[in-house]
Amino acid sequence: MRIGVLALQGDFHKHGEHLKRLGLDPVYVRTRDDVLSIDGLIIPGGESTTIGKLLVDFGLDASLKERLDQGLPVFGTCAGMILMAKEIVGREQFKLNLLDISVERNAYGRQIDSFEAEFEHSLPLQGPLHGVFIRAPRIAKVGPEVKVLASFEDCPVLVQQEKYLAASFHPELTENLELHRYFLSLVERAKEEGPAVPTLNDAD
Ligand code: GLN
Repeated sequence: MRIGVLALQGDFHKHGEHLKRLGLDPVYVRTRDDVLSIDGLIIPGGESTTIGKLLVDFGLDASLKERLDQGLPVFGTCAGMILMAKEIVGREQFKLNLLDISVERNAYGRQIDSFEAEFEHSLPLQGPLHGVFIRAPRIAKVGPEVKVLASFEDCPVLVQQEKYLAASFHPELTENLELHRYFLSLVERAKEEGPAVPTLNDAD
């Protein structure tokens, strides 16, 4: 299984280290060929405007769109989640429109730019999840197709819509590998199902 980590800006190495601990050899995605070679993609935390701009500048947007149309699973953390959202409140910036969520950037308040918290979740994992939030986006709205897997203070912080998983926190900054392991199970399932067949509407 080839898992890519978008390596244009942000804390991509930390995700790579988690993948290595799970026995994989991560692909640090910087070129179109990298995009075309992977079975799943992690979009790391960082600065979402910068990552989006670099995606376009590096000419990765078209090949990524091609792979997404074929059913490429994606896991986004923090800025990565912002890039996956269908709506970014009050901002016009590059986004991938994958997840039916509305996000507010830097919405946890200046006085608590960064904090850590433990919260329950509905995944089949042992124990609570521990989240590191760094100038984190807040999920303001979720669409009907989106499953909320964990919330903190009544706000969703971990969501899934089919093969798209997104967290407003940084699981790669803790020792816990469970969310990465869970994402690998989504990639495994997508591989078994094979590439998405375009429908008549897609072909329009
Ligand atoms: N504040 C960043 C943004 O809005 C996200 C922060 C992060 O990824 N830790 O893009």
